[in-house]
Parts: sequence; structure tokens; C-alpha cells
Amino acid sequence: MRDEMAKLIDLSKCTGCRSCQVACKNWNSQPAVQTKNVGSYQNPQDLQHNTWTLIRFQEGVKENGDLEWIFRKDGCMHCTDASCVRVCPTGALSYGEMGAVRLNQDLCIGCKYCTIACPFNIPRYDRESEKTYKCTLCEDRITNNLVPACVKACPTGTLSWGTKEEMIKKGNERVKELVAMGYEDASLYGDKYVGGTHVMYVLTEKEGHYDRLVKSPSVPLSVKLWKNVAKPLGLFTMGAVIGAALLHYVIKGPKRPKGEEG
Ligand code: SF4
Ligand code: SF4
Ligand code: SF4
Repeated sequence: MRDEMAKLIDLSKCTGCRSCQVACKNWNSQPAVQTKNVGSYQNPQDLQHNTWTLIRFQEGVKENGDLEWIFRKDGCMHCTDASCVRVCPTGALSYGEMGAVRLNQDLCIGCKYCTIACPFNIPRYDRESEKTYKCTLCEDRITNNLVPACVKACPTGTLSWGTKEEMIKKGNERVKELVAMGYEDASLYGDKYVGGTHVMYVLTEKEGHYDRLVKSPSVPLSVKLWKNVAKPLGLFTMGAVIGAALLHYVIKGPKRPKGEEG
């Protein structure tokens, strides 16, 4: 059995160069698309069905009056307890090898349940193909002993790849270093949420400080109820209806057209 692997994103080292964003598009054969300049470095403005990794750009002013720029690589977190897998009615979303959460477009019926259930707001629906898309953790590369394309392209050491155990250790060591350097709010994000994600962040600020980074994410209650109560109840009801129909057939025999009774 292969090791469980993980990607570590150390935000203290990111320069926002977007090599990872381009490498992801390149490896996954996603075309460049026309975008609008809306006065922000962030481009495109959000994840898209054909942009699976996005550098979010945040500009602000610190308490001491200094200008603050934050770059955050956004994309699928490859959850151990993935809400998208829980709600997918066709099996299009499933657990793949080495920690990846797979999305098989051939099985996707475009119901968009995963886009609603994901606590990180990741999957994106494409109206043209009527399918949903997201990062694959480069499963085609990692199962062939290659690192994900984004990790390969990163020139600053922001992105690392290794066993989940190694990445948690590395992340915690980096947090200690950052705290010693004066970043007292530094923390490791991802290792304790939704069963532990296979993409983790080293943060220098509090979780709530980052644009669109969910604070203390968990599997939504509606998803748990769907999986544990509504779905089994639905199946039970369906089973009961079929059972009743069968019983009726056994007792009364097949239904015949009027005039053919007996
Ligand atoms: S981040 Fe969202 S899309 Fe990715 S595995 Fe987790 S629940 Fe699924
Ligand atoms: S792991 Fe692969 S698919 Fe996912 S963001 Fe990186 S390059 Fe894109
Ligand atoms: S390639 Fe590395 S440094 Fe450049 S934007 Fe991506 S994560 Fe940041």
C-alpha cells in the first residue's frame, strides 16, 4: 500500500508569482481565458471550472500602519472526511490513491451537490459540459513518483510534498520558527479539520484574517444528516415500496387488463 501523502503551503514564503497557477493549467491542459482587470492582482477573480488553483491576493493596512500584502494558493484541500464524497449520488467523487479526492467526470451528472456541500467552496460547475471540476492533487503524477505540477513549479519553497506525517512535522517546526521570529499567531491549518486534509497551510496570521479561508471548517450538519439519516431513510422507503409491491404480486398475482380477471 502506498504512503498517505500531503502538500504543505507555507504562506510565509509565498511571493505571489503564480507559477503554481500556470503550471496547474499547463499540466491539466486548461486554456488561458480572457479576464478583466478589476484593479486587483488576483486574476481570475475566483476558482473556475478550468482554473483549479488560484492565488488569492489581499491588500490591507496593518495595525502599525504598514502596508500588508497576502498571497494564498487556493484549491481543493483533499479532505480525509470529504463532504463532496459523502453527498455525491453517483460515485463520481471518491477517495483515490495517496490522499487524493478524485472526481470522475464520466460519472458526474452535474447535480452540483458537491458545490453546495464542500466546506471550502471548491468545486466549480461548467454550464457547457454540465460537469463539475476541481484539483486532482495531480494523482496522475504522484502515482508515477512525480510531485504535483504546482509543487514542481514553485521557486520559493512555499510548496512542499511528502508523507502526511512528514508534512505535519515540517509544518509544526516552521510554526515554531515563525513564533520565535515574532509571528505569535502562526499556526498549522488543516491537520485537525475534516479528518485531516491532504493540503495544509502554515499561516502567519489568525485563520480569520485570510480572505475566503474558512475558520474551523467541518463537515456541515446537513451533509451528515443527508448521509446518516436522509439517504438511508430514502433507501429504506424505496426498499419498503418495492417490498410491498412484491408482496402484492405474490398474494394477488400479476395485474391483468380489465375483463381478463381470474
Ligand atoms: S475541499 Fe471540498 S472538494 Fe476538496 S475534498 Fe474537501 S470537500 Fe471535496
Ligand atoms: S495538485 Fe495538480 S491539479 Fe492540484 S493544484 Fe497542483 S497542479 Fe493543479
Ligand atoms: S509558485 Fe510558490 S511562490 Fe509562486 S505563487 Fe505559487 S505558491 Fe506562491
